[in-house]
Amino acid sequence: MGSSEAPITTKALVVDKPGAPFVLEDVVLDKLRDNELLVDIKYSGLCHTDLVIQHGKMPIGGFPVVAGHEGAGTIVELGSGLQSSGLKVGDRVLLGFASCMNCRGCQEGSKGACDNIALTNFGGTRGLEDTPIRRPNGDFVRGSVFGQSSFSKLAVCDVRAVVKYPGPIEDLSFLAPLGCGFMTGAGTVLDVLKPKTSNNIAVLGLGAVGLTAVMAAKSLNVAEIIAIDIVESRLDLAKSLGATHALNGKSYKDVETAIREASARGVDFIVDTTGLTSMINSGIKALAQQGTFAIVGTPVPGEHLSIEGMDMLIHCKKIIGVTGAYANPQELIPRLVKMYQDGSFPIDGLSKSYPPTEIDQAISDMKSGKVIKPVLAW
Ligand SMILES: [Zn+2]
Ligand SMILES: [Zn+2]
Repeated sequence: MGSSEAPITTKALVVDKPGAPFVLEDVVLDKLRDNELLVDIKYSGLCHTDLVIQHGKMPIGGFPVVAGHEGAGTIVELGSGLQSSGLKVGDRVLLGFASCMNCRGCQEGSKGACDNIALTNFGGTRGLEDTPIRRPNGDFVRGSVFGQSSFSKLAVCDVRAVVKYPGPIEDLSFLAPLGCGFMTGAGTVLDVLKPKTSNNIAVLGLGAVGLTAVMAAKSLNVAEIIAIDIVESRLDLAKSLGATHALNGKSYKDVETAIREASARGVDFIVDTTGLTSMINSGIKALAQQGTFAIVGTPVPGEHLSIEGMDMLIHCKKIIGVTGAYANPQELIPRLVKMYQDGSFPIDGLSKSYPPTEIDQAISDMKSGKVIKPVLAW
């Protein structure tokens, strides 16, 4: 099948300008380029990063924009360069992130650490000067976010973001968030930090990323898993998923005090999903000898950490930034699906579906902690 000749009209959630609401509008999709495919989106997870994009807090991008980067659906059409890609019309796919495929990280399989991850995930195959989405009047709408812009019934996707899913279509309702949040939380523990059973680990913030980090630590039988949040229902969930300690941050002066109450020597690993400078500063102090602190949540641009060099030196501490778990989504996502099927990655209990018109309710439920992972059902 070749590329479509006529433009396609569909519905998408468009954010008009920084801070504006997500509004369901008619949009027109351009015909496919060689390495693009048209996906009928069934589900798209809502991630904190979508709100960062909505509020114009990304260092790159533009408005109006269609966000959405945890999409899943079925292939409707393939670009002319994809005829021997192993993908075919009707295949079910999960959408992760795109990477440049040329830099050292990509060549070594660490696509999440791609040198060009920002440009690739906000410019897609077309670069920042072009987009596959227009308003009916012809005005430019920023698309290709994470190679998908999947807050849309139909989406022009970058093949580099696509992962085939051989199982039933209904599963996509809870598998869609593998594309970002679930993959990031689990992959950071499984493939970046790699704790041993004798280690201990603390997870700061128990949203989708934090809870999947807890699940991954449990799957590795890590001796102590300390989960910290300020929402009781999330703490209960973390305990049911394997946290040995679930601590309400409101009950402690700071993160270090909480962690050291659970483990006086400190912890070997910390995964921060909050991005809060005060949490990170205090958490670093709670690392044990040779401990590693992973910054996974999105910090506020321009804010600086306050760390004591001597503490870093004599305790041989490491601080690392981790985007996309440094992962290769085409390898990690199928591995996590297998873990789900084996029962060691019970992600099916984390999501709740909403119609796209109720995205504001979904955002409010995610922020309050009532729902871990809202998923839009298209
Ligand atoms: Zn790259
Ligand atoms: Zn995300």
